[in-house]
Amino acid sequence: MPKNTQVMLMKDLSVELGSNKVLDSVNLAMMAGERLAIVGPSGSGKSTILRLLAGLLLPSEGSLKISGIDQNYLRLDQNSPPDVRLVFQNPALLASLTVKENVGFLLEKQKVLPEEIINKKVINCLQKVGLYDVADKFPNQLSGGMQKRVSFARALISDSKKGKGSIPLLLYDEPTAGLDPIACTRIEDLIIKTTEAAEGCSIVVSHVSSTIERTANRVLLLYGGKFQWDGSIDQFKQSENAYVKQFRTGNLQGPMQPEDS
Ligand code: ADP
Ligand code: MG
Repeated sequence: MPKNTQVMLMKDLSVELGSNKVLDSVNLAMMAGERLAIVGPSGSGKSTILRLLAGLLLPSEGSLKISGIDQNYLRLDQNSPPDVRLVFQNPALLASLTVKENVGFLLEKQKVLPEEIINKKVINCLQKVGLYDVADKFPNQLSGGMQKRVSFARALISDSKKGKGSIPLLLYDEPTAGLDPIACTRIEDLIIKTTEAAEGCSIVVSHVSSTIERTANRVLLLYGGKFQWDGSIDQFKQSENAYVKQFRTGNLQGPMQPEDS
């Protein structure tokens, strides 16, 4: 994919939720090959950005383009939606469906591909995340870690209705929150593998430094409705910027204060 292809563009974009201006006239361009980490305190609006990109929410003001196309409708109302895949913090699998049915859900619903092709795709995606012989099991028969893998496999399935040329955008919301360091490494490897396998771009929201450092080449720091800092991962590790320093060190003193203080 050419490096100068623009995957996403926010222009003077604001999001108001109730009386809360969560994003305040932000501008952001993301190019092919970028792997972004979005960091910032709880409540700063990181998940809101992912929900915008996933088409679950529209900007209150300004514009959002994905693969050059203005996003004026929610994803469900779009005829040719962009290829954006959200991996939720919790696996969010449907308990009454088998692993195979969960992973192939979208393709089954579209009724475009024959059953045996869907089956092959599902098995292939499960193998890519290191899962074998689980297709006919139900989610509650798997460990938590395996369920997480199933949710990654689901993100790998390519949507038969989506345009071939466009670059998939994979979104991961706090994928390693609450995991032990070894489980973290596994999930980080999976994020890297999944994004590569989909030949896509990624945005990872995370507080975990190993996750930020291993999965991203660019970091954005969100606070007070604005992107306060934007730079490469190497710059992020060394920056003397007050926001970045406070985030890195977890200092109570600094420009960022909790919502309720
Ligand atoms: P983060 O993911 O960075 O923790 P969120 O994007 O979830 O933050 O939330 C940003 C802000 O928007 C928070 O103050 C939250 O309380 C508020 N918020 C989130 N969803 C809604 C909603 N549906 N209605 C009103 N406020 C919301
Ligand atoms: Mg969040």
